[in-house]
Amino acid sequence: MTRDTPAAALETASAEDLRKLMSSVRYALWDFDGPICRLFAGLAASQVAREFIDLLKEGKQDEQLDLLPMTERLSKDPHAMLVTVARRHPNSDRIVKLEEWLTGREIAAAHSAFRTPHAKEVIQAWGNLGVQLAVSTNNSARAAARYLAAEGLDCFFPHIYGRTHDLSLMKPHPHTLLLALDAMGADPSETLMLGDASTDYTAAQAADVPFLAYADTFHKVEEFHQKGVEPSRIVRSLKDVRDVLSSQN
Ligand SMILES: [Mg+2]
Repeated sequence: MTRDTPAAALETASAEDLRKLMSSVRYALWDFDGPICRLFAGLAASQVAREFIDLLKEGKQDEQLDLLPMTERLSKDPHAMLVTVARRHPNSDRIVKLEEWLTGREIAAAHSAFRTPHAKEVIQAWGNLGVQLAVSTNNSARAAARYLAAEGLDCFFPHIYGRTHDLSLMKPHPHTLLLALDAMGADPSETLMLGDASTDYTAAQAADVPFLAYADTFHKVEEFHQKGVEPSRIVRSLKDVRDVLSSQN
């Protein structure tokens, strides 16, 4: 938050907003990295990004730079790097190899991921209320499944949809949301997507699914405001969601 940030720009949902939003929810779609856990916590994303660049160091230097320009290499986000390479060379065999490599790193990271505060309680509370849950993630579905099993939460998530070799189907494309809706036989109007990125919001809009933003920093709150997300659809902590669900139990 800057000194000049107006208070209105940081408004988030009240308990009453959340009660109204969640009263008709029968299905919930979860983004994985953010709302459920911080995947690259023990294994830092910046380290994986460096390893990603090392993988590109095959072939001539001009070919390497063609795959991923120098400016993009400053990013510490291996996901963003993979998407850039795929955008520049959509049909390259190297995309498949890089995607599989990143999947391996995500599965390894699942062992040392940090739990998102109160996520487990929200998952259990929704489960107890009979709300059906699914994961819609840009990470590997196998990494999400590994984390959820280790946390004893796999029983709540029979449907986990993640990244495939076709990176054009990653969010903001609604592909994984539509797969989850179809698998659950869910009516989008009775579904809620919980995500921490603007790509989650865009994907939810494309699938006609109401959206709740998890924004654990002021920067993210501002980002969602700028994207047009109503303050009544933004929470700073999943504790707010848990408290409303507890009162429904
Ligand atoms: Mg996320």
